Amino acid sequence: MQATYEDLAVLVEVQRIDIEVLQAKKERASLPQRIQVAKIRKKREEVLPKLQQVEELQKSTQAKMTTIEDEDRSLAQKQERAQEIIKAAGSDFRKAESHSKDMAGVAKRRDTLAQSLAKLTAEMDKIMSVQGQLQQAIAAFDAEESSLVEAYQSKDAELVEKSRALLEQRGKLVAKIAADLLDAYSRTAAKTGGVALGDLEEGGVCSVCRSTISGGRLIDLVSQRPLGVCPSCNRLLVIH
Ligand SMILES: [Zn+2]
Repeated sequence: MQATYEDLAVLVEVQRIDIEVLQAKKERASLPQRIQVAKIRKKREEVLPKLQQVEELQKSTQAKMTTIEDEDRSLAQKQERAQEIIKAAGSDFRKAESHSKDMAGVAKRRDTLAQSLAKLTAEMDKIMSVQGQLQQAIAAFDAEESSLVEAYQSKDAELVEKSRALLEQRGKLVAKIAADLLDAYSRTAAKTGGVALGDLEEGGVCSVCRSTISGGRLIDLVSQRPLGVCPSCNRLLVIH
């Protein structure tokens, strides 16, 4: 392959860009916010059914309270009517007495209702407090998630822009290199998954895989100057 040291210097630059683009791609795929957002969503999913349960409990408790209040209201009206009848009965002692008995029963029932209502009111206070805590927790998850999503999007956009600028620069560089050299580099990069180009260092060492090349293989490699292939890792080696 015909290559000059000038071509190889450009290729080294292309490789530096390719590695940076690869790192930006990896960084995009592993941005910490993605995992954090997933964790928050999971936590919220755990809290949501609890909130639904509490809301159902709140509704059923409210319904019980309404039933009691309705009964109590109708008993209060009954008491008022009985009061009027007793008043109207005047000296009709028997009539007055029978209504007084009724009224005692009604008063007792209203006491029981008042006790139940007090219990339900206390329960309702607890329910509302738990409901408030759960709603606050969910609001906090929502806020945390949107700030993470914002941070993620901004970091991701930054990496996309970085890659775009690098690839633009790469385009200008590869235009300067012979097609067969670029092709050899691309094929090696595809096989090695990243670093495709190294140097033959002092003592016949491959700068990438650190193998020492010696004897006839070294002589053969050096004869290919300025560009050969490492017999150990098959990467392209610049021979100075
Ligand atoms: Zn090597």
